[in-house]
Amino acid sequence: MAEIILKNISKKFKEEEVVKNLNVTIRDGSFTVLVGPSGCGKSTTLRMIAGLEQQSSGDIWIGDECVNDLPPGKRNIAMVFQNYALYPTMTVKGNIEFGLKNKKVPKKEREKLIREISEIVGLTDYLDKKPNKLSGGQRQRVALARAMVKKPKVFILDEPLSNLDAKLRSQMRSELIQLHKKLGTTFVYVTHDQVEAMSMGDEIAILNKGTIQQMGSPMNVYHEPNNIFTAEFIGTPA
Ligand code: ADP
Ligand code: MG
Repeated sequence: MAEIILKNISKKFKEEEVVKNLNVTIRDGSFTVLVGPSGCGKSTTLRMIAGLEQQSSGDIWIGDECVNDLPPGKRNIAMVFQNYALYPTMTVKGNIEFGLKNKKVPKKEREKLIREISEIVGLTDYLDKKPNKLSGGQRQRVALARAMVKKPKVFILDEPLSNLDAKLRSQMRSELIQLHKKLGTTFVYVTHDQVEAMSMGDEIAILNKGTIQQMGSPMNVYHEPNNIFTAEFIGTPA
């Protein structure tokens, strides 16, 4: 588990500043949702936390460590995206195991981790199947398992349910909330969907044009929006 602190984080692509002086504390063990319209800088912010993109200025802290100069592999973060490409020729087990083999985890330990985690995400009966034999929800679970098996301190999820149909999306929302409860790990979750943000986050940060508009509990931002943007975006009755 780890707290994440963004201190005066800005990001410029050429001349355009797409993230502007963010100051955010993501509580240790929280389910924090970053929500805002398309293009407001959500993915860029996640990518900076993960180390896939370097900030133009400011500091990022994870736990008690300033990670500005740490490459992604050293940040102890796992990412799950919308387009979670699985290896089509490998079985579910092979897909989950792949990262562990790379890290030279011994076979016995790998088997134990795979058993434990496939149970948590409900894939025990599918370990020998190839991805093309799975439903969308099952494939998304493989992507989650692949991230979980590394036992990261932080999970970063970038619109992971966008490709699923409405029914499955709502089921996966509950599953992710349960998963977070079970693991107790810090989750940072990005979505453009305010309903998803309100129903999933214990803390939500509303982003617009690269600036945080408001951060607080769903009830807090709903009942006490700081500005018109937040009120309209969240749908607070006027
Ligand atoms: P969101 O995830 O909220 O939809 P992004 O973080 O992907 O937004 O993008 C924020 C802004 O930064 C957008 O205007 C986007 O076009 C721009 N942007 C993102 N990545 C790059 C890049 N690699 N090069 C140039 N512009 C980028
Ligand atoms: Mg995005």
